[in-house]
Amino acid sequence: MQITLKGYKVNFQTAYKIVNITPCCDEILRNPVVVLNSSENEDDIPEICLAKHYCEHSYEDYNDGYDYYPIKRCPYCGQKFEIRISEIEDVTLQYDEIQKQADECYKKANKSDSKSKEQKYREQGHEISKKLNWWLSDDDLPICRGNGE
Ligand SMILES: [Zn+2]
Repeated sequence: MQITLKGYKVNFQTAYKIVNITPCCDEILRNPVVVLNSSENEDDIPEICLAKHYCEHSYEDYNDGYDYYPIKRCPYCGQKFEIRISEIEDVTLQYDEIQKQADECYKKANKSDSKSKEQKYREQGHEISKKLNWWLSDDDLPICRGNGE
């Protein structure tokens, strides 16, 4: 399987988005525990991992999350995975600019004299913040996005 990624750099953090996937076989994309993940990689570049869900509970605490195990080859057909980075775009300036717009909306919301205006500005702020979050989060394989693709 070949995956091409594009990096978006904000300050010292880079998030990777999928530009193109050429699957080696159908099975690999159908398997929900096969994911793209960067937490096991020192350079923070996503690699293909198997994800194992864990949950721990004690009397009051409940903890859950995933452990990731990098794999180098497709477990179905044996082809090696290739991950390429097409480019890394520094979006720090745009990010800061949009962050200012979001802050502006929240400020206006706090100063609003009516509930409906406050709501409107708060929603605008959330909309704008969504863009910012997009720049900060790595893409996952399509099957794992939970959007029914
Ligand atoms: Zn395969």
